[in-house]
Amino acid sequence: MTLYLDAAASDSVSDTVIEAMIPFLTQAYANPSSVHTDGKTAARALSAARESIAQNLGSRSNEIIFTSGGTESDNLAIKGIALAHVRNSHAHHDDASSDSRSRRILISAVEHPAVAESAQWLHDFFGFEVVRIPVDAQARIDLEALQEEVHKGATLACVMMANNEVGTIEPVKEAVRICHEAGVPVHVDAVQAAGTIPVDFHDLNADTLTASGHKFGAPKGLGILCKRNRVGMEPLISGGGQEGGLRSGTPNVAGAVGLAVALQEACSRMPTMIPALESSRDELINAVLHAVPFARLTGDPNSRLPGHASFVFPGINAEALLVDLDTRGIEVSSGSACAIGRSTAPSTLLAMGMSETEAKSALRISFREPLSSNDRESLINGLLGSLAELHIKV
Ligand code: PLP
Repeated sequence: MTLYLDAAASDSVSDTVIEAMIPFLTQAYANPSSVHTDGKTAARALSAARESIAQNLGSRSNEIIFTSGGTESDNLAIKGIALAHVRNSHAHHDDASSDSRSRRILISAVEHPAVAESAQWLHDFFGFEVVRIPVDAQARIDLEALQEEVHKGATLACVMMANNEVGTIEPVKEAVRICHEAGVPVHVDAVQAAGTIPVDFHDLNADTLTASGHKFGAPKGLGILCKRNRVGMEPLISGGGQEGGLRSGTPNVAGAVGLAVALQEACSRMPTMIPALESSRDELINAVLHAVPFARLTGDPNSRLPGHASFVFPGINAEALLVDLDTRGIEVSSGSACAIGRSTAPSTLLAMGMSETEAKSALRISFREPLSSNDRESLINGLLGSLAELHIKV
């Protein structure tokens, strides 16, 4: 039997979510923009889903934009805000010096490629300067460096809520406060946080925030962007003007319903699930560090995602370890799913100051249900078996 421990990459969809979606695929399948009765039924379902998601993310329903996933939401927020800035500065004939002062995007050094590459695109096509704000050895953003950079002017700052590779929960609220004091809006990538730990868009006071359905029990290809009405944004997809003109295309009604049900399920489980996952995670961390004394935990030991344990195994190529674990029915990851197959070192670990070789020894174990003691034992036995197979002495 397979032991799937890669929930941070993607997870299963529950029966409740599937059942809630089916009527909108088989009966109430009309286009929600159509004026007939069935169209109105679909539109009502879409609006109920929007309302429920808004409540669970501490947002308002008119601030929710449905997208095709976390990657699209990050792209829309970052490029959309920057393009609105470009349009405004042309309209106001801003002088070159004030324009170059503000054509800067600040991103924490541990952002997901969906954020980092969107910022890079703005550099390549519109000449934005991309400033990477350093992190400490536990991947926490350096707030002093952020403060210093934000005062030099910027169009936008991007700070993720929880890191996908090492699970560190970032001091987002503090980062937002610092950026707002300098008049700079903040985009928060909450893909790893939403549905796992409480996310409150208004309490964070963020300007935009990304969540992705397949990280909390909805199907893949479903994303959310929360956007405050005060934020100027250009759409990236042109068409019929759905989603307040910011994301054209016929809405995926069944998908939105699935997103809402999955998020509701995840949020109502949180009060019991978070402590259960945390103690399961800590038992697992202790077991791994005990079984493999040269292993090291990565990320913040305290402020970290409840079902996330990440390590480096110095001297080992994690790719080989992953492949061997897989033959034993244990599915884990080396960091971010996007890095797999490319044999690149997890970028978060490099930003935390590790060498390329050390970063390539990273293993991430992530789960949305607490592990049983049998699961833990299987994992440890598998790990020891794989290390022996690779001729590594523990
Ligand atoms: N941001 C973070 C932090 C992620 O972990 C991921 C996916 O792993 C994404 C963005 C991209 O989300 P999606 O897979 O929905 O495109």
